[in-house]
Amino acid sequence: MKIVFMGPQGCGKGTQAKILSKRLGICHISTGDLLRNAEGDLKKELDEYMNSGKLVPDELIVKILKERIQEADCNEGFILDGFPRNLNQANLLKNIVDIDKIVEIGLSDEEAVKRISGRVNCKMCGESYNTLTDAHPKIEGKCDSCGGELFRRADDSEEAVKKRLEIYHSETEPILDLYKDEVVRINGEQSIDSIAKEIEEKVG
Ligand code: AMP
Repeated sequence: MKIVFMGPQGCGKGTQAKILSKRLGICHISTGDLLRNAEGDLKKELDEYMNSGKLVPDELIVKILKERIQEADCNEGFILDGFPRNLNQANLLKNIVDIDKIVEIGLSDEEAVKRISGRVNCKMCGESYNTLTDAHPKIEGKCDSCGGELFRRADDSEEAVKKRLEIYHSETEPILDLYKDEVVRINGEQSIDSIAKEIEEKVG
């Protein structure tokens, strides 16, 4: 099974992609995490795009993704979280693999900005929490899974989030037309458990 998760920032696609990947036993690939884990000169180059909320160049992300999906843990399938982000990436993806389902988690911009203002991530393992929702950490500032320190991503500032939402609507949403028959729409304005249940009912 090859699945793409789409939705505006803060819709919970990372959380839901993790839940579904565990249930289906397929790997979860977050391109944002892949890029954040880059090192050295490449990291410096990427930070200039990422910290201001811009997309990194298509050739670069496509090369990184292509290498990742060829690894052995992707043999049974995968969930892409954060890719493709524009029509060019979607067309390049069509040349590499056939996608079975596009899961689109819908959320209003207003709710997206609100949710992102509460988002914190673990410095050590990358786990995501939200101080404003039921996904808050048990102990403030500490990761439930590994005890690592929680921090706010540079691109989660209000200004960068607005820029990222603008890009989502103008560049990412048109992908839904390209994959009309594969799209499954999910209501993102529910609790984590309810969203997971809706995905289970509609995707399997
Ligand atoms: P995310 O964690 O998915 O919100 O991604 C964080 C940042 O990583 C984005 O704002 C982009 O700068 C970069 N990024 C992630 N995925 C892609 C992609 N498919 N194409 C271009 N840039 C990306």
